[in-house]
This record gives sequence, C-alpha cells and structure tokens, in this order.
Amino acid sequence: KLQFWKEGHGRVPSARLATKRMVVRTLCLLALFVLVYHIFTSVELRNSIHDRVTPLIQQDPSKGSTVLTEPSTLVGQPKVTIGKEKATLLMLVRNRELHKALGSMRMVEDRFNRKFHYPWTFMNDKPFTDDFIRFTTGMASGPVEYVVIPKEHWSVPDSLNKTKIQQGMEKLRTEGVIYGGSSSYRHMCRFNSGFFYRQEALKKYDWYWRVEPDIELYCDINYDPFTFMRESGKVYGWVLSMFEFEATIPTLWQHTKDFISKFPQFIAEDNSLGWIVDGANVTKAFAEKKVEGNYNLCHFWSNFEIASLNFYRSEPYQKYFDYLDSQGGFFYERWGDAPVHSLALALMLPRNKIHHFADIGYNHAPASRCPQDDASHVSGRCYCDRSRNYDNDNYSCGPRWFALNGVGIGALLP
Ligand code: GDP
Ligand code: MN
Repeated sequence: KLQFWKEGHGRVPSARLATKRMVVRTLCLLALFVLVYHIFTSVELRNSIHDRVTPLIQQDPSKGSTVLTEPSTLVGQPKVTIGKEKATLLMLVRNRELHKALGSMRMVEDRFNRKFHYPWTFMNDKPFTDDFIRFTTGMASGPVEYVVIPKEHWSVPDSLNKTKIQQGMEKLRTEGVIYGGSSSYRHMCRFNSGFFYRQEALKKYDWYWRVEPDIELYCDINYDPFTFMRESGKVYGWVLSMFEFEATIPTLWQHTKDFISKFPQFIAEDNSLGWIVDGANVTKAFAEKKVEGNYNLCHFWSNFEIASLNFYRSEPYQKYFDYLDSQGGFFYERWGDAPVHSLALALMLPRNKIHHFADIGYNHAPASRCPQDDASHVSGRCYCDRSRNYDNDNYSCGPRWFALNGVGIGALLP
C-alpha cells in the first residue's frame, strides 16, 4: 500500500503496482459505465411510462370536462374487475396536495380497495397537472376520472352583496376563526354542500366515499361498505362527529327553521332532531311539522362520508341547498358543508338510515377514532391505540348519538 504513495517521490513503480493501478482504472471505468447505463435506462422507462399515460391526459376546463384513465399497467397488475356497486371513491383536491392525496389513496387502497377496485373520482377547480394524473393513476387499483369543476359551481352568486362578503370575511379573520378570511374555503364548502353530486362524472353512481388528503385508515375493511349500505337500507355513514364553531354559522339554524316552516312536508318521521337539539320532542316535531329549540352545533364530520348520492339529488335536499344558497351564508358567514349535510340528514331522514361505522379506524387531524372492540382489531389488523378515541373528548357528539340510537359493533369500550 505504501508503495502507491511513494510513487510521487520519484521511485520507479514496481510491476505489482502497475497491475494494481490497471485494476483500479478498469473498475472505475466499469462503475462509470454502469452509472451511465442506469441513467439511460431510467430515462427510457420514464419516457415509456409517459407515453403510455400521456394520451389519456386531455382536459378541457371550459367544459368542466373529465379525463378517464384506465388502471395503471405499470405495476404488472392483472386486468381488474371494478367494484360491484355503483360507487366511487371521491376526492376534491388541489394539485399541491398531491403527496397527501397519494398518502390517503395508499391507505384506502391497501386497507380496502385493492380487493374491490372501485373507481376514483378526483375533482378540482383547476386542471390537474400531468404529475397529479400520472401518480394518482399509478396508485389506483381501479379506473380514475379527473373532473375540472365548471366555473358556475365555484363562484359567488351574482345576487350577493360583495361588500357584505368582504365585511363578513374580515370579521371572521380578525376574530381568528379558522379559515375565517379564506374565500377558497368558502367555495369549497359551498361546492361540497350543493354541487359535488351534480357533476356529470357522478351521474353513473349511486354512492360515494369521500376521501380527503392526509387521512389514515387504521384497520382493514374486509367487506364492501357500499354493499352494506345498500342492503341495510342506509343512506349516510359517518365515523366522527363534533360541535361546529358557532361563529361560522350564526344564522344557519334560523334559516333552516324558516325553510322547514316553508316545506314542513320534508320533516321525516323518527328523525334525528333529538341529536341536534338537546331535549327535543321528535314525535311532536313530526306531528306538528315544526322545529323548535336551539341547535347544539352537533354535526357529522364530513371529511369522511360513505353515502347515497340520491339523498342529495332528492327534492328536499336540493330545495334546502337552494334556499340556503339564496341566503348568502356560505359567503357572508362561513357555513361548512358538514353542518349543512348534517342538518338536512337529521331532519329529513329517519334516524335508522344513518349509520355509524364504529369498525372503521380513522384519522383526519386533529381527531381520530379507533375501534373499541377486540373483534375489529383482530380481524382488521388495526394499529391504533384504543384510548385515542375522539368520542372520549368533550367536543365529540358521538356519546349523544349513541345514547339516542344505541351503539354498533366497535362503538364503545366493553
Ligand atoms: P379542513 O379539512 O376543513 O381543514 O379543510 P381542507 O383543507 O382539508 O379542505 C377540505 C377538502 O377540500 C380537501 O379535500 C381539500 O383538498 C379540498 N379543498 C379545499 N380547498 C380547495 C380548493 O381551493 N380547491 C380544491 N380543488 N380543493 C380544495
Ligand atoms: Mn381536510
């Protein structure tokens, strides 16, 4: 070894050293060749992936158009059969949330969809980027559709007072209300209240499962929740519930009561008024077709929903949304889609059509719910801590629901 270093000091290199140097040079050349080859082939691969997927990427935002990509062939999957219910996994998402969207997809695919291959539908107020389309298509085990939301479903209605909107946003912003000063959040809430179900791409479906970026699923879902919903006559399924920030909906309840007095026939028998108004007399409300009392702010947390699209397409819901929209509260205040869905569901549906998925372990920051029973953990390979259950929190409306409706499998600690 020393001889090598001595070379610079004028000694004649020995034959042994010359051989060593040749070996080192050859190895270096070989390594360089391997590197170049690797770079070349990975660029080739990337180009060929691009060639295969790119022809599918054609968006026309002016038409609110959709793009359908077939399941990715990149991972050598066999041809898939598509989930047997008329259902889709639905995500409204921004391009910059791609990696969070992929995280959620990975959860839903690994825990459920890789066995069922339901199609995904992505919606955005802006055209999706090529990367978004390629990588989500690659993650999906079923077909994927990309919807660009038409402008009229993501705008302020002409009838509203722009100054009043500015004042309302400024007020909530200075009060430090979450998303209080955001206009895009308001568009999102209005879209999720009244427009998602009207998109052309959803016409072919009866059911949707709303998935948001950055969620976690803690347990395997070994059955088809869409089939479960259909067979058991359910309309709406949820996991978490909580109180809404009052500052975001100061007049929503009054408008809802006004709506019901205009359309008293929309109150359902055996509804869930008892869940949203403490101490309500449900029988009396139905008999007299009249809603009284104060809203306790309970709502289903709508970032997870497995539900019937036909509920929203029904006359009562459409009329309710149109009425609320005409009052301007999505912009003057900051009405969330969660309380809007929840008030409609609570008043217009018999309570046995609403299902609590106690066996679905779910996280969307800052709340999560871990199934409480042993069976869900054993059969579902859950990895969550059972003591981390938002229903133990004072802000959860779960205990109220269970007190009125009983608990399902996995609902409470034995
Ligand atoms: P949070 O869960 O209430 O904190 O609100 P998020 O930021 O998660 O928004 C709710 C859902 O709407 C998520 O699926 C977001 O990706 C989506 N979303 C929110 N704002 C926009 C927006 O301006 N454009 C699009 N395309 N999606 C949005
Ligand atoms: Mn979210």
